[in-house]
Order: sequence, then structure tokens, then C-alpha cells
Amino acid sequence: MSSVPDVVLNNGVSMPQLGYGVFRVPDDDTERAVLAALNAGYRSIDTASLYGNETGVGRALSASGLARDHFFVTTKVWNDDQGYNSTLRSFDASLGRLGLDHVDLYLIHWPKPSLDRYVETWRALEKLYADRRVRAIGVSNFQPDHLRRLRDETDIVPAVNQIELHPDLQQEQLRRFHAEHGVVTEAWSPLGQGLALRHPVVAELAHRHGRTPAQVVLRWHLQLGNVAIPKSTTPSRIRENIGLFDFALAEVDMAALAALESGTRLGPDPDERETRRRPGFSSAGGRWVS
Ligand code: NAD
Repeated sequence: MSSVPDVVLNNGVSMPQLGYGVFRVPDDDTERAVLAALNAGYRSIDTASLYGNETGVGRALSASGLARDHFFVTTKVWNDDQGYNSTLRSFDASLGRLGLDHVDLYLIHWPKPSLDRYVETWRALEKLYADRRVRAIGVSNFQPDHLRRLRDETDIVPAVNQIELHPDLQQEQLRRFHAEHGVVTEAWSPLGQGLALRHPVVAELAHRHGRTPAQVVLRWHLQLGNVAIPKSTTPSRIRENIGLFDFALAEVDMAALAALESGTRLGPDPDERETRRRPGFSSAGGRWVS
């Protein structure tokens, strides 16, 4: 079984560098999918209250028989629940659905600047951390300005910023900012929702290394130092996506992948995510967005 290395967060907590994401997995299918991931060797699961599948994640963790300190769970507070008291309530509800007494990492899902509540939401996360109900706290989809505001107005530096990151959107500036401030970069849509696998450069590197395109892209993330949370519900792909620890990309391969940056976002721009409704099927492009 593959052994996934850990990254050490800014408070000393260890987090697996590769995890399994469950966005768009229906709750009824989640137990099976997460059990397949745990059997393949994943020990970190990324969910969110928005995903509606925390119950399935909790069932899988319970059915796995794994000791609590042998897995790492991330969940997130949704935009509608931002605010101090509502975040505390939303956290309790997430914990109940997961069937856990603490989560390993709790994130603010989006900054949603028009709401202007992410600072008080962060103070609620600081309270949960002080009460030892979460082992680490972080953010998702925060831009440098949002991170600077937290730095200026609150006490704890986010341990993680989970952002859209794949070969078409490499987020070099934000990664540099994270490195300077001790924030771990976690890549969502690490495979570009499958689109990154179609690049001829990726295909060529896969051929040269005797690997699959997904393994090349995920290996690129690991060598950049990113945490990555690919999603698949197909057991063979779940196994494929963790088979990354017996090969390495050369510097020249990393440079070839760096050249794929096109600035193409698949999800919303964090500064412009201003819709008030819960997202569902987006009419723009017909894709789900979270
Ligand atoms: P992803 O880049 O992980 O792509 C998933 C898709 O790639 C799959 O649906 C499948 O079509 C394809 N795929 C996966 N493995 C493959 C393989 N080995 N070979 C060929 N195709 C393969 O995209 P994602 O699901 O959007 O993101 C992953 C996780 O990131 C989510 O499950 C969720 O946990 C998280 N996420 C977070 C946010 C956020 O706002 N914080 C937003 C989106 C996703």
C-alpha cells in the first residue's frame, strides 16, 4: 500500500499531502467511495457542509474501524452560515453529521467579500480551535487581500488556503504569498476536473515515465509542495491517483508543466463570487460549481 507523506502545518499538526475529495458525490454513494479510498491508502478526506455528504463520510470512517488518530478530516463552513454564532452552529451540525467529536481541519469555504463577514467567521474558527474542537483552522479561495485582512484584524494565521490550482491555473503569486506567511497551499480541482489530462505535454510525460496523465499531474503537485485532493468514484482511478510515490519528475519535466499556465479558471473568481443563492447547477457553462 502506498504511504503518503505528511506536510507539517504552522501549528505543528501533520496533514497527509494527498487526500480524497468528495465534492459532487451523492451522500448515498459516499460511504462506498470513501471506503474505497481508505482501502487504497488515503487517510485524508475533504468534504464540506455544502456537499451534503458529511453523513456518508462519517459512516465510512466508522465502518473502516480506523482509530481516530489514523485519519484526517476537513470540512468547511458555507457562505450562508458565515458570522460568529451561525458558524459555531454550523460547525456543531457538521460534527453531528460526521459522527466525530472533533475535525482535523475546518475551513471558511469562500471569503465572499460582499458579505463582509469573513473576519467574524474567522474569530469563530479561532474559538473552535481554542476549545480544541478542531486541530487546525484555515481558509479556502482567499486572495492575498483577504489573507492580509485576517492578519491585521485577527490572531491566528490560517494553516491552509485551499484554492483552485492545476496546470492551467498555477497560482504562482498566491503560492509565493503562502510560502512567505507559513500557509500551506492545498489544490482543489488538482486534475483540472480532468481537463489537465488532455494536454499533449502531460500525455508525452506520462508516456515517457510509463505512468498515466493523472499520475503525472498529481506528482507535479506533490513536487511543488502542494497538498492535493483529487476526486474520482472509480475504484481503479482512486488507486491510480495514489500510486505516486515510486517515481519522480525531473526538473525539465516540471518546467514543461510550468509552461502550461494559461490563467484559465474552472470555478468562480473569489473576488466576484457574489451570488446569494446556494450554488447548484450553474447555467454558465452547465457545470456544478462550489
Ligand atoms: P479534480 O481535478 O479532482 O477532477 C475530478 C475529475 O477528474 C473526476 O470527476 C474524473 O472525471 C476525473 N479523474 C479523476 N481521476 C482520474 C484519473 N485517474 N484518470 C482520468 N480521469 C480522472 O476536480 P474536483 O472534483 O473539482 O476537485 C477535487 C476536490 O477538490 C473536490 O472533490 C473537493 O473536495 C475539492 N473542491 C473544493 C472547492 C472549494 O471551493 N474549496 C471547489 C471544488 C472542489
